[in-house]
Amino acid sequence: MLLTLALALFLVALVLLGLAKHQQRRLGLPGGRVIYADRRLWGKVEKPLYDPELGLVGRPDYLISQGGALIPVEVKSSRVGAAPYEAHIFQLAAYCLLVHRLYGRRPPYGILHYPDRTFAIDYTPTLEAETLRLLKAMRRQQGQGEYPRSHQSPARCLRCGYRPICDQRLL
Ligand code: SF4
Repeated sequence: MLLTLALALFLVALVLLGLAKHQQRRLGLPGGRVIYADRRLWGKVEKPLYDPELGLVGRPDYLISQGGALIPVEVKSSRVGAAPYEAHIFQLAAYCLLVHRLYGRRPPYGILHYPDRTFAIDYTPTLEAETLRLLKAMRRQQGQGEYPRSHQSPARCLRCGYRPICDQRLL
């Protein structure tokens, strides 16, 4: 009985993993590589990064300066499965966008750090284009009064992965 249940759970996990990967492949988003994170290289980011042209503001938790490259790091307190969440990938990509625009150096990748594992997310041209497209769509929808914020909870915005690219965030 226990063996059957374990097998069933294993199959469900495989199907869910397959669906997540299919969704990421459909969008062409990088899945992330599990890496070892040497935290001694992480420099705290004190001030938010702001690009007036894009109207985009955000503050990665850390920046790593390594071999001429600047790598943004986002730290998450929740645990993760086999792959990072899509919203977190876009949040990190928005930081890559800001770093590129403000420092003139395109990050080759960014880092998503969860309590149980750390992923390097390649900042590919596809991911950059998808992030810009998402940003534009959010602006357009806001301009048209579509999808207005449905709550007044700053705490909810604080936890939200779209916060760096959302015009309606509460903080
Ligand atoms: S930042 Fe706030 S308003 Fe914007 S999508 Fe997230 S929860 Fe909604």
